[in-house]
Amino acid sequence: MSDIPNLLAKTGKWHVNTAWLSQRAGHKCEYCGLDFFASVSSYKSFQIDHIVPVSKGGDPDSNDNKAVACKTCNVDLKSRWNPKDRCNSDDRNQLIEAVRSYIKERELFYLAEIQIMKKIVFG
Ligand SMILES: [Zn+2]
Repeated sequence: MSDIPNLLAKTGKWHVNTAWLSQRAGHKCEYCGLDFFASVSSYKSFQIDHIVPVSKGGDPDSNDNKAVACKTCNVDLKSRWNPKDRCNSDDRNQLIEAVRSYIKERELFYLAEIQIMKKIVFG
């Protein structure tokens, strides 16, 4: 196994498990692909999501139920949405795919809202 998570944890900035989760994800949001090292705002948007929300019965401790996600995907788009509402599987990859699909729908909703705002501002 790679030593990178331990080296990241040695900086004192990340817990070793957080570093391991980030390493597993290639240091990118598992939902939209945002590269956490691309900019300060990307780096600061790093969060750990519970794929199946703890409030909906998701395991709070299992790494299988954790995904690294940007704040926009985790808080603004996914929120407490439960992928098991749409995906009849416990497979982590399939649950993540359901979240990606849901997030794309939510993005379209917001893009339509942005168009309305732009029309008001710019005519
Ligand atoms: Zn994202």
